[in-house]
Formats: sequence, C-alpha cells, structure tokens
Amino acid sequence: MSKRLVILGAGESGASAARLGQREGYDVFVSDAGAGNDTYLAELREAGIEFETGGHSRHRLLQADVVVKSPGIPDTANIIKMIDQAGILIVSEIEFAFRYVAQDATIVGITGSNGKTTTTMLTHHLLQTAGERVMAGGNLGDSFARLLVDHEPQDIYVLELSSFQLDGIVDFRPDIATILNITPDHLDRYEYKLEKYADSKFRIARRQRASDHLLILDDPETIAPARRRNKTEAAVTVIDPEKDIDGSRITVQEQVFDLSGSSLRGRHNAMNALFAVRIALLLNVSPEEIRVGLESFVPAAHRMEVIPTTDGRTWINDSKATNVDSTYFALEAMDGPTVWIAGGTDKGNDYAPLRELLNGKVHTLICLGVDNKKLKEAFADIDRVVECQSAERAVELAREYAGAGDRILLSPACASFDLFKNYMDRGDQFREHVKRQVA
Ligand code: ADP
Repeated sequence: MSKRLVILGAGESGASAARLGQREGYDVFVSDAGAGNDTYLAELREAGIEFETGGHSRHRLLQADVVVKSPGIPDTANIIKMIDQAGILIVSEIEFAFRYVAQDATIVGITGSNGKTTTTMLTHHLLQTAGERVMAGGNLGDSFARLLVDHEPQDIYVLELSSFQLDGIVDFRPDIATILNITPDHLDRYEYKLEKYADSKFRIARRQRASDHLLILDDPETIAPARRRNKTEAAVTVIDPEKDIDGSRITVQEQVFDLSGSSLRGRHNAMNALFAVRIALLLNVSPEEIRVGLESFVPAAHRMEVIPTTDGRTWINDSKATNVDSTYFALEAMDGPTVWIAGGTDKGNDYAPLRELLNGKVHTLICLGVDNKKLKEAFADIDRVVECQSAERAVELAREYAGAGDRILLSPACASFDLFKNYMDRGDQFREHVKRQVA
C-alpha cells in the first residue's frame, strides 16, 4: 500500500508539495480549514488530488504517515497538537522537497529578518549571469517543491527561507547557509522571546557538515549568542559590514566591488551584496563575472524602488519595509531633505531607533494609517506631521510639501492590513498615484 501524505493548507507550498508527493507515489490528501485559494484548488483538481476545505476531517488526518504543514499554521493550532500527539511526523514543505532533490544539486539557503528576498534574487542573478543552471524560490516565487515538480533539474537551488519554514525541517541541509541578520519580527510566534526566534534561524545550520558553509552577520547581541547555543559542523564565516563596507564599495575576500553603478541603493543593500558576492565566490564565480552581475541586477519592486518621474524629485516605494529595522536603513539612505510616508498596522513597534536619523533630513511626516496616534506621538517634533487614509491622498500631500529636489519615501515600518490588502497593494497604489499625479 502506498504511504499516506496529508497536506495542511492549500496554498503555494501545499499544492506543490501535494503534486510532488503524488509524483513520488504517495496517496495524497489536502486539507484546508479555510476556503482555500482558487488557483491552487484548480491545480489540485487538475492533478486529480483529493482535498477538503472549510475544516479538517480528523480521522483522515490521523491516518497519515507524514504530514506537510503550511508555514502559516502555528504549532499551537489544535489540529497540529492532535497530529503531534498521535506521533505522526509533521514537516515543512522545504523538508519534504529536500528528500526528493538530486543528491548532487547544490543548495543555498538564505534566511534572516530582513533582506532575504533581495539577497536571494541577487545571488540567483550573479550565478545565472555567470552561466550556472540555477533557480531561486522557497519563500519567494515558486516553492521548493514546485521548482522540483514543474522544472528541469537544476545544478543550484537558491532558497529564501522564513523562520516558519525552518521550524519544520528535520534533515534539510544546505551546502551554503546564510543568516543575514536577526531583529525582532514575528515574535508572537516565538513566545515573544528573541532567543527562540534566533534559534529558529539557526536551525538552517543544524544538519550541515564540515564541507558546508555558514555565513553569518557579526552581531554580538543576537547572532553570536545564538551561535553559542546552536552547534554546527559547518565552516563559519562571520561577515563584518563595518570592516567590509566603505560607502558604495564592498570588499569580499580581498576583492573590491563598487556598487555605485548598480541599483543596490543604501547600506542595507551593501550588506546583502556582501553575502551574495561571498556565496558566488564560494561557488567559483569569478570576480569579473560578479561585477557584470552586480551592474545588471534589478531589485524586486517595493524595496527602495525608485519610481521614474520628471518632476526632479525622487519618489521611492519601500512598501516592503514593514518593520522598524528595514525603515531604519531606508531613512539612513536618504541623503537630503525628505518627506517620509509611514504608518499602518503597528506590530508593537519601538520607534526610538529611527529618531537619530531624522534630524535635518525629514521635514514632513505623512502618517498613512487608520490609527496614527502612536506614530504622531513618537515624531511630534518633526516640523510637519499630517495624516491621511489613502495612497492617493498621501501622494497629494507629498506633492504639496516636498520641495524641488526632495526625496519622498514611502517606508511604513508597519504592516499594511488596515488600509490595503498587503504591502504589494500599498506599493502598487502608491506607484500608480505617483505616475498619475506626477510623472
Ligand atoms: P525580506 O524578504 O527578508 O522581507 P526584502 O529583501 O524583501 O527582505 O526587504 C524587505 C525590506 O527590508 C525592504 O524595505 C528593504 O529595503 C529592507 N532591507 C533589505 N535588506 C535589508 C537588510 N540587510 N537589513 C535591513 N533592512 C533591509
């Protein structure tokens, strides 16, 4: 009898893991407590995979040999506790897919609180420009399982990994693992303990061997203690931005790379580049090829994305900045008078670290949220603080208050769910109104 695979959650990772399971000969059943997503339900239907929505058939779930859980479902959910108590193995889609990737494929795993997508895309780009057979996925774009089930086998997989995905790994072992940084985010899933969140990130390295590499940021407050708590056999490289970044120039293994002609703006992107370039060098890409790749890299939308306009001002969409740390780097990168648009759903933010960056730069704060009280209080001493509840109005206000040559920065430090569907919707609306009103 074939083994029974139960998938919880009919999203990108669930649907693709189901199809991979089917390909590998499992008897697959998908169960989603919600309504499910039409695209993925259609995919399951087309593949002839059985599924249910709007609840879980407990008896069916308890017959599973292995359960793949969507990263969105917390371990504390009743259904997870029940399956766990029954002694059934619960893994993430990343772990499941890892079992079926070719043994000789190289796996690069990238995690951290901020910069994962940028670093994953940049690493992929540097490798691809150098002619490698490489694909990127995981927490961005295609899930790991989909890369395996819908594409030709690759030589290298570059995977963006969230801590939720890492929580469900057992044997997953990247050849090169990267922890970009660890700052407070999603602490609600980690009992509000930064150590637990940091330990979750370090799971990326627990199965690594001596021939593998672990690249980590030099951070005495979070990463260094987590490293002491979590043993790994991998060769560890500690990356020190203070030493290796000089303006727009970065030094990696004694090679200097100049980012001034690239689209990688701001110190945070120089940090991301330190990691991506190091990975490329480890995978034998030449410095010359890396330079070509750095110049031609186009960052993903909503991350310090400059919206082209003809009004002489610089409009920047950094809607993906949903926490204080990412906004910190965005504000730091502003090199002149700035109108800052911020706000949304506050995740318990402490705005204090941003204060040192405002002096003399931010003359106007436009609060874009339903409840702006906390933000207004934190920044009451900025020359002008106004508020609004739509992207359209935010752009109108910015036009009114930004002087010639100013920067207008949408970098909210907050989630977007009070006024928008998600950060992409917020950024898209902002870009749209800038184009309509300004360009
Ligand atoms: P992630 O995938 O981890 O969310 P992104 O690359 O999508 O990371 O960037 C998210 C936000 O964080 C953007 O606003 C971006 O400008 C900012 N950011 C990017 N890299 C870093 C970094 N190394 N440190 C802090 N903030 C960063």
